[in-house]
Amino acid sequence: MSTVLIIGAGGVSRVVTHKCAMNRDVFSRIVLASRTLSKCEQIRDDIKKAGHGEIEVAQIDVENVKETVALIKKIQPKLVLNIALPYQDLPLMDACLEAGVNYLDTANYEPLDEAKFEYKWQWPYQDRYKNKGLTALLGSGFDPGVTNVFCAFANKYRFDEIHNIDILDANAGDHGHPFATNFNPEVNIREITQKGRYWEKSPTAPQPPKDYTDWDNGEWKETEPLSVKQTFDFPEIGPKKAYLMFHEEEESLVRNIKGLKRIRFWMTFSDQYLTHLRVLENVGMTRIDPVDYEGHKIIPLQFLKAVLPDPASLGGRTKGKTNIGCIFDGIKDGKRKKLYIYNVCDHEKAFEEVGSQAISYTTGVPAMIGAKMLLTNQWKGEGVFNIEQFDPAPFMEELGKQGLPWVEKELPVDFEMKIEK
Ligand code: NDP
Repeated sequence: MSTVLIIGAGGVSRVVTHKCAMNRDVFSRIVLASRTLSKCEQIRDDIKKAGHGEIEVAQIDVENVKETVALIKKIQPKLVLNIALPYQDLPLMDACLEAGVNYLDTANYEPLDEAKFEYKWQWPYQDRYKNKGLTALLGSGFDPGVTNVFCAFANKYRFDEIHNIDILDANAGDHGHPFATNFNPEVNIREITQKGRYWEKSPTAPQPPKDYTDWDNGEWKETEPLSVKQTFDFPEIGPKKAYLMFHEEEESLVRNIKGLKRIRFWMTFSDQYLTHLRVLENVGMTRIDPVDYEGHKIIPLQFLKAVLPDPASLGGRTKGKTNIGCIFDGIKDGKRKKLYIYNVCDHEKAFEEVGSQAISYTTGVPAMIGAKMLLTNQWKGEGVFNIEQFDPAPFMEELGKQGLPWVEKELPVDFEMKIEK
């Protein structure tokens, strides 16, 4: 029985808060706090209407660390769930440290003025969290999140060695708008317009010493944004073009899956989506540097966010499914093996259950499960952890029970992706 403080009241938070309220044996008291109080109140009222009981709400701007510390001390939660935006990761990690409470998030920190997805800002909190006997769990969404857990599960229970990992993220949802993003448009577009990157070990690189903890003898290879693609036949969705991108879980998996030789990440986009995105880029609307507009400074991407459909409003109109999973290529009992582990999530079913589309659902459910793992002491540790560092088994078991069942499918060993450049 624990008190939790959930920060942020957007699309993902709606799911996290509903799911926590549906698991009262663990989350006995839930406080939802965000910058806009009315959004918290709306979620609170919907949870009550759905028969999941009472939650409390509060207003907070977490950029103000002092006020956040005061709120945490007043509420005294066991865990703060950061379901706001990546820019809030560091102020919230600071506030949790000062207030002496555990921390969880779903996306790594990035500075507002630089679209860089790296753990270099959050990993250095390791000693401070450890010294205070606190846990910070990073990346407890779907990707990062469940994809990392799939990797840890395959590594521990299905393979002796994993050599290659391909993470594949497909969204075949149709919301009927010519252009909209399924989660925060600013965060989403910053991610997609970056150069692609994947990690590969050089065949001539030296082998890691025994019992190494942080061995990185591979190289990051850069590709032009969305320039490398393949068509993959996604179960329950069908063939879709998937583009090579950099995604933050690659950075921690390279560290934590020992013996890895290559890791890549692929995401599907429709031609219509990419045509709109190119036009917006070409006219400067995706820029993140301030420009002068009638005597004011505005950031074009933030303005674009204001005119695009709110992702939280897409829930009721999105039809179709998502499929996110990992293909592993490695060795088991001396033989080559290829295994595909994935989840399929239906937008309409997600909406029926919690009033959000599948992208928010697939992120929010694992955030609740990660919180449950910590609060029930199934996952214990002092310091800063990426999710694949804990035992994947109890988390995988919860996934099925909480609405995100997964499928394992062995692939022929001669299966190869057909890459187009
Ligand atoms: P939204 O933009 O819908 O919601 C963000 C919420 O955070 C809003 O309620 C916003 O308040 C609040 N917020 C922003 N700044 C502050 C602040 N300074 N203080 C308090 N509250 C603040 O985003 P999403 O719900 O789509 O995404 C939430 C998180 O989930 C993001 O970090 C995103 O990167 C992550 N994500 C992770 C995925 C994964 O698989 N790992 C996939 C998808 C998303 P206001 O309403 O006032 O603006």
